[in-house]
Amino acid sequence: MNYKDLADLIFPNAKDIEYYEKKYPERSLPEDAIVTRFAPSPTGFVHIGGLMQCVINRHLADQTNGVFLLRIEDTDQKREIEDGVNQIVNSIKDFGIEFDEGMINETESKGNYGPYKQSDRKEIYESYAKYLIEQGRAYPCFATAEELEKMREKQESAKIRTGYYGVWATYRNLPVDEAIEKIKNGEKYIVRFKSMGNEERKIRHHDVIKGNIDFPENDQDIVIIKADGLPTYHFAHAVDDHLMRVTHVIRSDEWVSSIPLHLELFKALGFKVPKYCHYAPILKEEDGKKRKISKRKDPEAAVSYYHEEGIPQEAVCEYLMNIGNSSFELWRKTNPDEDMSKFKFELNKMSVSGAVFDIVKLLDVSKNVISKYSKERLYDEVLSWAKRYDKFLADLIQKDKDYSLKVFGIERQNVKPRKDISKWSDVKDAIIYMYDEEFLDKDISYDYAKISDKSEINKILTTYVEKYFNIEDDKQTWFDKIKDLSEELGYAREVKEYKKEPEKWPGHVGDVSTVLRVALTGRQNTPDMYEIMQVLGKESVLNRIKKAIK
Ligand code: GLU
Repeated sequence: MNYKDLADLIFPNAKDIEYYEKKYPERSLPEDAIVTRFAPSPTGFVHIGGLMQCVINRHLADQTNGVFLLRIEDTDQKREIEDGVNQIVNSIKDFGIEFDEGMINETESKGNYGPYKQSDRKEIYESYAKYLIEQGRAYPCFATAEELEKMREKQESAKIRTGYYGVWATYRNLPVDEAIEKIKNGEKYIVRFKSMGNEERKIRHHDVIKGNIDFPENDQDIVIIKADGLPTYHFAHAVDDHLMRVTHVIRSDEWVSSIPLHLELFKALGFKVPKYCHYAPILKEEDGKKRKISKRKDPEAAVSYYHEEGIPQEAVCEYLMNIGNSSFELWRKTNPDEDMSKFKFELNKMSVSGAVFDIVKLLDVSKNVISKYSKERLYDEVLSWAKRYDKFLADLIQKDKDYSLKVFGIERQNVKPRKDISKWSDVKDAIIYMYDEEFLDKDISYDYAKISDKSEINKILTTYVEKYFNIEDDKQTWFDKIKDLSEELGYAREVKEYKKEPEKWPGHVGDVSTVLRVALTGRQNTPDMYEIMQVLGKESVLNRIKKAIK
């Protein structure tokens, strides 16, 4: 009896690995094309770090005419949730990111290198596990849970490394005949990799992001096929990334310590090692200290947060690019209007220690992104968000679409467009006063700032309506008239004049404007008042001033 008999007994129906090597040939792509993947477990939750990975992967694949695929890693079936794949696919799609290959919903996929869900790849793993057994590089292990537990206790009390390795790996040298006998007797087993490594020897590995790292060799005989017949992460990683012809394994640095094991697995399987790119976790600064952004403590760790808040996908992606490559910020400054896709991303410029996530900065990026939207685009984006998250706002802006477009158009054609909106959840507050039904019949608390005397305010408003207000005026005439009004009532015509001799006047043209602004909108700060009046129209302006005088 030899290894082949053992392999045939364990996996009688497994295909020869040549079959899969042919079925999934090398991809015909440009030499430097990057083939990369996002490989989440179907827990439904997408972490901001995962989204950053997707933004970067998508960008790199586009930049090099490569491929970005989605593989679902569902070999730990305890962690799965119903609809988990759909939720992942949709949350990534919400950010405008599409995969070239991979799962498109719970059951379907696209691409020629599938199946893209690990639980559908059982036969493939069996073939490669069988191959390793034939080569004497894998073996059945009959250790029971109790045996393993005892072993661990011994190792711990002797203060030595825990695990299944060296002399502790009891079943690695079990004669083939005995193993076959045990299997025939129905004894339970799992399949382990037989490591040839030695902990005392060092290897040097080059990680694209982290640079050279020295490790001790792997010597653990890890499980490759579990009792449920499914592979472990490590084994599936080697088989899948090889057969999907992945060139760059971009993954979180929690996997760095597995590199020696993965290198050994690739070698034993006869696979070419992909480039490893381990990125550091996204950090958050709290009380002057940095820590990993946490699913438990930080709402912004879940990508659903950005969607609910209505931070446009473009802004989130741009911000992630920003913290992904520090050179992005400078590039953006020199190329303010260029599409992000033109930026050349460099994996080796990713932060080794972890980029700090700053929501204030993100909102700032977002403000700039939104300021470049046309009123039509803004309207569409706000409406589609509002339909899902703010029914009131959706109704408000839909009632009279043409009017709403005018409202959204305020200060949008300007050289310096308005920047008071950084997320869709800001919009209601930024526009609600423009709607008569939400203003004329509502209680408005007028806070007039400097000029606060009621009769003085009424005098300003009345004089304005009687002598100076004409909706047809162009902007210059309109403004000159506010100056005339100020002068007539004893205020400084120009702010500059006032500043020279502030004791000479009770206030200046700006203070008079504020009175008008507060009367018209209930706010001291708004976008351009001329544009606001133009959009409101004559009747609404008069009604609002009348209401304020009352
Ligand atoms: N399923 C693994 C995880 O979510 C994938 C790691 C990898 O990208 O290889 O951590």
